[in-house]
Amino acid sequence: MKFVANMHGNEVVGRETMILLIQYLCQNYGLDERVTRIVKSTRIHIMPSMNPDGYEISHEGDNQSIVGRPNANNVDLNRNFPDHYFQENQVQEVETAAVMNWIHQYPFVLSANLHGGALVVNYPFDDNINKKDGIANLTPDHKTFVLLAKAYASAHPLMKKGTQCSDSSEYFPEGITNGAVWYNVEGGMQDYNYLSSNCMEITIEMGCQKFPYASRLPQFWLDNKDSLLLFIEQVYSDIYYDLVNFFYCFKNIIVACKFYSNLRWLIRSTHIYV
Ligand SMILES: [Zn+2]
Repeated sequence: MKFVANMHGNEVVGRETMILLIQYLCQNYGLDERVTRIVKSTRIHIMPSMNPDGYEISHEGDNQSIVGRPNANNVDLNRNFPDHYFQENQVQEVETAAVMNWIHQYPFVLSANLHGGALVVNYPFDDNINKKDGIANLTPDHKTFVLLAKAYASAHPLMKKGTQCSDSSEYFPEGITNGAVWYNVEGGMQDYNYLSSNCMEITIEMGCQKFPYASRLPQFWLDNKDSLLLFIEQVYSDIYYDLVNFFYCFKNIIVACKFYSNLRWLIRSTHIYV
């Protein structure tokens, strides 16, 4: 599984939380039973920042600006992946191309794309054919995405209650939403993962402030820590494969994949067995 943080450079909670997660896993390995089990059973890749250039020009205390959101070429990286409906994104930025190669280099099964400025877990699809906000577009694996999204939200003390950010009227029951229902995102990373590989990715808005003051970071870590661990624990190691089929498991879920091309598999279906 993998975590990708800070693709919007001014959304730093994911970036800092990933550094703390790495530290927490390393320091507690061999001491804490849960951490030891997680590290021994799961291959975890962590990218604390996908957009270091944006981060460099962003500023502490930023609640909701877009300064530092795009990369140095002023491109929003979460609009830069090939889209399943539209052809605008034919040219990828170096950051996007590198992540696309990474996605296809390893058979990741689960991923989280970490953002900030809201408090909700968002699952595919992120856009709809109408290019309009507020219109649901659910995947054939909707129930599985909901379970994965709830796994994260249910362990977050505020997100699970659908807590609203103080400057927002948005309310998300149980702290989750379909991406297209919230607002339309073309060329997003989570849809690309889902449609072009065997990886199920969700997008996590980890807190209401995009770039909180450093003094507040310990609380963001405490709020998200159990969610991060529970999310990793959704990956089960049972895997079966032959020349044309590949199966893997989440907790109580079997995912069937079909062979696509050289080392690439696509999700065919998911089955929830309890
Ligand atoms: Zn973002």
